[in-house]
Amino acid sequence: MKVFKFGGASVRDAASLANVASILQRFQHDDLMVVVSAMGKITNALERLNIAWCEQQPEAFQLFAEIEQFHLEIIQQMDIPEEGKSRISAKACRILEDLKELILESPSASFNQNYDQVVSFGELVSTTIVSAYLLEKEISNTWLDARDLIVTSDNWRDARIQWEHTAKRVQRLKKASCYITQGFIGREPLSRLTTTLGREGSDFSASILAWCLEAEEVNIWKDVPGVLSADPRLFDDATLIPTLSYEEAIELTYFGASVIHPKTVKPLQNKGIPLSVRSFLNPEAPGTRIGPVSEKVFYPTCIILKKNQVLLAIKTKDYAFIAEENLQTIFGQMAVCGLRAHLTQNSALSFIICTDNDTYKLKPFLEKIQSEFEVEIQENLELVNLRHYSETILAQIKANRQVVVEQSLGDTVQFVLQPR
Ligand code: ADP
Ligand code: ASP
Ligand code: MG
Repeated sequence: MKVFKFGGASVRDAASLANVASILQRFQHDDLMVVVSAMGKITNALERLNIAWCEQQPEAFQLFAEIEQFHLEIIQQMDIPEEGKSRISAKACRILEDLKELILESPSASFNQNYDQVVSFGELVSTTIVSAYLLEKEISNTWLDARDLIVTSDNWRDARIQWEHTAKRVQRLKKASCYITQGFIGREPLSRLTTTLGREGSDFSASILAWCLEAEEVNIWKDVPGVLSADPRLFDDATLIPTLSYEEAIELTYFGASVIHPKTVKPLQNKGIPLSVRSFLNPEAPGTRIGPVSEKVFYPTCIILKKNQVLLAIKTKDYAFIAEENLQTIFGQMAVCGLRAHLTQNSALSFIICTDNDTYKLKPFLEKIQSEFEVEIQENLELVNLRHYSETILAQIKANRQVVVEQSLGDTVQFVLQPR
């Protein structure tokens, strides 16, 4: 079986859906597990809806109407007869009706638990539309609820996979030539509530399913030719990397190359399953092949830029040295709040952390540690990670910028910088 993943960009409008159908037609002789994300930027819209619902703003219903309208317009523009469009609209509306019922209630759970219940509708409605559209185009497929397969903890917004339970469920699936299912979502078995795996988690879902199925390969279809030496939205001279070892792909994604979710590669490496990152705009091209690599590969300098970073300088209130038990408290609270330390540095009196400026995670973290520590915050910074760097590129990156922190280890150098 092959596992395919189509992200938000590949299902953002009716023309994109027709393109997905044509790609699937090319693979009609293969058994496929197709993982699909929410359409376009709908996850962002659902995040706004969840905030409005949790804060009981009347705007929530306006946001709901916009989300519904977005999906109905895509259906209206499909290249199929009117009756087909009506059938698909009815199915999409049925799913969205459940979301409306949810937001008509008062939010009683935590923000993060509510988030998973609301935001998961993006994938539920998109897969319903994609599956029904493919049927109208006579591409037979079976829709699966990923929540019946992916068993997780109740670590809302960043749920942990219960691998063995998940594998048992996935392996019980009957043979079908094409399954369509959601990325990003799972279910906690005791509460039976929906969970999500973290933003951009659909790549990881594809990898989980491939691991369980011992798939022959995974293909992630993107709006870029493959993994490039940098994000082409930020660097126009980014070049395609045709082959990557699992280790190199893990390093790049760990440091934030957002083309693949950082948790995607490891499960595939554990089972020796190759992963291709390919362009849905040019499906003939091989893209980037990630897998076992025997001989030494030459890699270009890879640049990974993370914007909107904060640097926290954490000191004990009595100005005592930062000791191991302090670090235990700091990291413990970061884990509870779901904050990731992209770079850390220790000095006698302060501990420095570079992390994302995500208010919903940062604010609770700062509140939790403020009784023990003083925190100085420097906002609006950038973190640059360079792998396989050359002195010329280093100089270019640093030119006319204030370097706040610089660290290097082996093939990687990291800088926290003031933006240009
Ligand atoms: P989807 O959600 O549709 O699967 P994403 O938008 O999450 O896709 O990922 C694709 C995007 O990743 C590209 O449009 C590109 O801007 C960005 N990107 C960041 N780093 C890289 C990189 N090193 N190589 C290729 N694309 C990258
Ligand atoms: N729809 C989710 C997101 O936008 C998951 C994904 O697309 O991978 O984060
Ligand atoms: Mg995405």
